[in-house]
Amino acid sequence: MTGLVIVGHGTRSAAGVEQFAALVERVRRRGDIGDVEGGFIELSRPPLTDAVGALVARGHRALVALPLVLTGAGHGKGDIPAAMAREQQRHPGLSYRYGRPLGPHPLLHEALEQRIDAALSGADRADTVLSGADRIDAALSGADRAGTEPAGADRADTWVALIGRGSTDPDANAEVAKVARLLWEGRGYAGVEPGFISLAQPSVPAVLERLRRLGARRIVVAPYFLFAGVLPDRIVAQSAEFAAAHPDLDVRVAEVIGDCDALADLVLERYAEALGGDIRMNCDTCAYRVLMPGFADKVGRPQRPHDHPDDPVGHHHHHHDHGHDHHGHGSVAVVGGGPGPDDLITVRGKALLDAADVVVVDRLAPQGLLAGLRPDVLVVDAAKVPRGPSMAQEAINEALVSHARAGRRVVRLKGGDPYVFGRGHEEVQACVAAGVPVTVVPGVSSALAAPALAGVPVTHRGVAHDVTVVSGHLPPGHPDSLVDWAALARARGTVVLLMAVDTIAKIATVLIEHGRAPETPVLAVQDAGLPDQRSVPARLDEIGAVAAREGVGPPAVFVLGPVVALTTTGPTG
Ligand code: SAH
Repeated sequence: MTGLVIVGHGTRSAAGVEQFAALVERVRRRGDIGDVEGGFIELSRPPLTDAVGALVARGHRALVALPLVLTGAGHGKGDIPAAMAREQQRHPGLSYRYGRPLGPHPLLHEALEQRIDAALSGADRADTVLSGADRIDAALSGADRAGTEPAGADRADTWVALIGRGSTDPDANAEVAKVARLLWEGRGYAGVEPGFISLAQPSVPAVLERLRRLGARRIVVAPYFLFAGVLPDRIVAQSAEFAAAHPDLDVRVAEVIGDCDALADLVLERYAEALGGDIRMNCDTCAYRVLMPGFADKVGRPQRPHDHPDDPVGHHHHHHDHGHDHHGHGSVAVVGGGPGPDDLITVRGKALLDAADVVVVDRLAPQGLLAGLRPDVLVVDAAKVPRGPSMAQEAINEALVSHARAGRRVVRLKGGDPYVFGRGHEEVQACVAAGVPVTVVPGVSSALAAPALAGVPVTHRGVAHDVTVVSGHLPPGHPDSLVDWAALARARGTVVLLMAVDTIAKIATVLIEHGRAPETPVLAVQDAGLPDQRSVPARLDEIGAVAAREGVGPPAVFVLGPVVALTTTGPTG
C-alpha cells in the first residue's frame, strides 16, 4: 500500500513538535495506511529527508506526500514540493502524489467550534486569557456553568476573532476569510471576523478593536492553527494585552486545533483523495501564476527547498533563503528518454526530469516531455549549443558541468539509451573529470524498440539466438570502421542497423558478398513510436534501392534476419 509522508514546516515550540508527532502516531494507529512517517522541512526533528528515507528503506517507491498546512501558502505551494523534489533526486525513481492543504473543511470547522465552546464554557482554564481579577471571576463562573447551560445560549452575544497565520500570499489569506465565514454560517455566533498574527491585516489588536466598536462584550479569539507554536503564543500575548487595556470586555482565547481524531480523519481523507487522482489547488488566484496587485514579483518565481538543520545539504544556507541563487548541490543525470513517445521514458528518468532545473536535450529525445516541464526550467537545445559543430560535444560537456557547478540539477535528456551510440559515456566522463556528481538512467533503445513497435521480435525461440546492434554511420571499408562486416555476414541471427540510411545499400552488398542470403528479409522502420511511424520491407539484395525509392529517412533502423519473416501487423505493426 502506498506509504504516507506527513510534511510539517517545523516550529521552535517543543509542544508543537509533540503534537505533530502525536498526530502522526494517531494516523499510524488507525491502521488504514500501511506505512506512515512524518517530517519537517525546517527547524524541527525529524527532517523530511529522514521520514522519506525511512519509507524508501522499507521498500516504498511511490508515496503520498501530504502538506500538513491549513492554507495553500508558500509552504504548501512551493517549499514542500521543492523539498520533495530534493528527496526525489536523492532517491531516483521515487514518485509521489501531492495532497491538498487541509482547509477549508467541515471537520476543521467543527473542531474550531469545539475549541470555541470550550473557551466559552471556561472548562479548560488554559484556554482562557483574562485581563484582571474580575476576569478570573468570570472564568470561574464560566467553569461553574459548564455542562449546565448549552454553549448555544452564549453564542448569540459571542463574537469570534478567527486568527490565521497571515501570509504574503493573498490567496492563503482569503482562505482564512472564507473559513471565518463558514464558521459563522448557521452556528449562531454574533459574528466571526478574520484576522492575522503576522504579515497580513487586520492584526489581532486591529480585529479586536473592530469587534469592540461593533459592540462586542464577549470575544473568543480562535487561533486557526493546527498546533502550538510561536505564533499561537503571540496570539495569546496580544489578546491578553488587549484584554488588559479593556477590562470591560470578556476576552478569551481558544486552544489550537491540536492532535485530535478530526484531524486524523482529515489526513486520511486527503490521503485517499491524493491516491484517487485529480488534485487541484485553487490556481485561479495563485500569486505564483496570476499577477495580483502588489505581488508581481511572485509570478513564475522558482521554488527552492528550505534547509533543515539535520539535513546535510542545508548547513551553509540561512533559513528562509528563497533566493534564486544556487549553492553547490548541483548534479547531472544522463537520462535515456526512449525512442520518442512521451511514455516510453523510465519512471526514474521522468522523476529526475520533473526535478530538473536545466534540461539539455537532443533532437531525437522525446520532445513531448519538454511541454510538461515547469516554466522556470532552462531548456538547452544540444543541437544549438554554440561554438560550431566540431566543438559541439565539448560545448555540451561544458554546459553540463558549468550548470551543475552553479548548483543546478541538470538532466541530459537523450534519445533511446544513453550508452547505445549516444555518446552518453563521454558526458559522464567529463562530469567525473570535473568532480560533478553524475548518474546514468538507462533508456529503451530504438535498437530494440523500433523492431518491436513494428512487430518484429529481435529474437525468437528456434529462429534467432543472437542479435547484433551495429552503427552504420561509417560504410564498410571506411578506414575508421570498427565493424567486422564479414563476421556479421557469416552469423545467422538478427542484425539491427542504426544510422544506416545513407549506407544501407553498401552494407547489404557487403553482407551478401560474405555469405548472407540475398533473400534475407529486411525491414526499415522509420520514426518508431511516433505518429509517422512506417515500415518498409524488402529482400537484402533490394533494400538499398527500395529504401531510396521509398524515401526512407532518419531516424530509421534496419532490422534483418530470419525474425523479420515473423513480422506481425495489427496493433503493434
Ligand atoms: N541512443 C539512441 C540511438 C542514437 S543514434 C538509442 O538508443 O535509440 C541515432 C539513431 O537511432 C538513428 O539514426 C536511428 O537509427 C535510431 N533511432 C532513434 N530513434 C528512432 C526512432 N524513433 N525510430 C527509428 N530509429 C530511431
